[in-house]
Amino acid sequence: MPLILSQRINFDSNYQDIPFKVYHYPKKYRNKIKSGDIFIYHQGDKKNPTNRFYYGYGVVGQISSMDGENYFAEIIGGTPFPYKVPLKYETSQYYENFGDGYNERKKPDWQNAIRFISHDAFNLIIEAAHVSDIQSLYDISNIESISEPLMLISKLNKIYSNYNFEMRNKIVSEHLDRGTSVTNALKKILGPNCQICGEPGFEKKDGTRYIEAHHLIQLSQKKLASLCSDNIILLCSNCHKEIHHGKHFSHSADETKLYIELGTKRVSIQKNTIDNLKKLEQCQALVPS
Ligand SMILES: [Zn+2]
Ligand SMILES: [Zn+2]
Repeated sequence: MPLILSQRINFDSNYQDIPFKVYHYPKKYRNKIKSGDIFIYHQGDKKNPTNRFYYGYGVVGQISSMDGENYFAEIIGGTPFPYKVPLKYETSQYYENFGDGYNERKKPDWQNAIRFISHDAFNLIIEAAHVSDIQSLYDISNIESISEPLMLISKLNKIYSNYNFEMRNKIVSEHLDRGTSVTNALKKILGPNCQICGEPGFEKKDGTRYIEAHHLIQLSQKKLASLCSDNIILLCSNCHKEIHHGKHFSHSADETKLYIELGTKRVSIQKNTIDNLKKLEQCQALVPS
């Protein structure tokens, strides 16, 4: 459910916030706010009614606390509204009172700096603020809470197949993926072995295996869909180095398979498409443990 985050922007506060970057809040709100929540910023002012408005939006990123008293939420894609929005819709009803289960309320609970609002209310405020591209934030909201790897890859593939790289750079790249979400999910499904030579990566201090991701179409080319799982193969560091620096590397593909020649090695492997990964998961489920 979307949130309202109260944050003063045009006068001093005791909180160590950086508007649109970091949100600082006390322990009592710790269960109200979670990574992936989409929110609207609100400024309250007890004395001056003309100083109350909604002024921006974003998605809650990583949350941390050093002392268990003060919490800090990283803000993803924090963006000021083109227009500030007053608290009331057409000067009569509060925006925050729109939507299921909220109609009965007389007033929003202003005393809570962090509070839930309905999707209806959220959309009305966004509309009144003349924000045009909210879809990208909806797409990434809650993605970090998906723990099932195939579901995560499937959702990320959907986002990445339509994402124009400039847009992705702006909102998604540094925060959501850093290229690692798809890779980590792939590792969970494919296991720790190199997809070319079959060797497992070396064992790391934490007991997991080291394995690298290679993008067949290089990310620097900024081609559509190059972040999707079917453009990624998992490699041991030797094969990965050889791909980038070796004398002989070539690859071709059909609908479902990749054909790779690397040095003296020739392999054909399943592409990491959702369909292939699904089949792989089903096979693994059949193997008695
Ligand atoms: Zn290898
Ligand atoms: Zn590479």
